[in-house]
Amino acid sequence: MLEVEERVARACAASGRNRSDVHVIAVTKYVSLETVSAVLEAGLMQIAESRWQDAERKWKALGDKGTWHFIGHLQTNKVKDVIGKFQYIHSLDRLSLAQELHKKAEAIEQDVHVFLQVNISGEDTKFGLSPEAVPGFLRDIASLNRVKVIGLMTMAPFEGDPELTRPVFRGLRALRDELNHLVLTPEPITELSMGMSNDFEVAIQEGATWVRLGTVLVGHEEG
Ligand SMILES: *Cc1c(COP(=O)(O)O)cnc(C)c1O
Repeated sequence: MLEVEERVARACAASGRNRSDVHVIAVTKYVSLETVSAVLEAGLMQIAESRWQDAERKWKALGDKGTWHFIGHLQTNKVKDVIGKFQYIHSLDRLSLAQELHKKAEAIEQDVHVFLQVNISGEDTKFGLSPEAVPGFLRDIASLNRVKVIGLMTMAPFEGDPELTRPVFRGLRALRDELNHLVLTPEPITELSMGMSNDFEVAIQEGATWVRLGTVLVGHEEG
């Protein structure tokens, strides 16, 4: 964990960014409840899971201890399970999901903070809106006032040389800046959720404000 912190700090320094502008999320989908507990004890308070089925036990035991992020593909029929529990949803990628998030958030009278997942790399194995579709999507969801779009999220392809992911991260930042010129949201979109174990330093250099770190930070356990 200390080594990761040093690498994050170095990537910030190398690109003239403040360390406090980059939030580290511990992705705990590969680890046990006991490990999540230890992660929280160590002071890492941002926890991410990608499937409710895997997260449920952990959230029920530790949900009040940290801030929870949902980062996986979210089925519409699972919104009822995650709403009000996960403060951030990183994977909004379709209108039907936005409608369901709004409906369930309205029912509990809470806003839900979301990132739009964008498929910058264009790989057809990846979820996410195409960059071209994002402005229209923001117009389509504008009336869903419980859904607060605070940022964009992307996943880069796995590359042996992380440097090759740079255009993907740069593309997400450029899209964010274009969207803000178009003024499609009540508040500017500020956040960029990008960078994983393999490529987080490049993502930070390109403007990531949230990095999602599993293997490199909390490990990858069997089972
Ligand atoms: C699993 C996962 C991560 C973390 O992956 P690592 O490579 O282990 O850091 C980050 N983001 C998403 C969306 C994931 O599904």
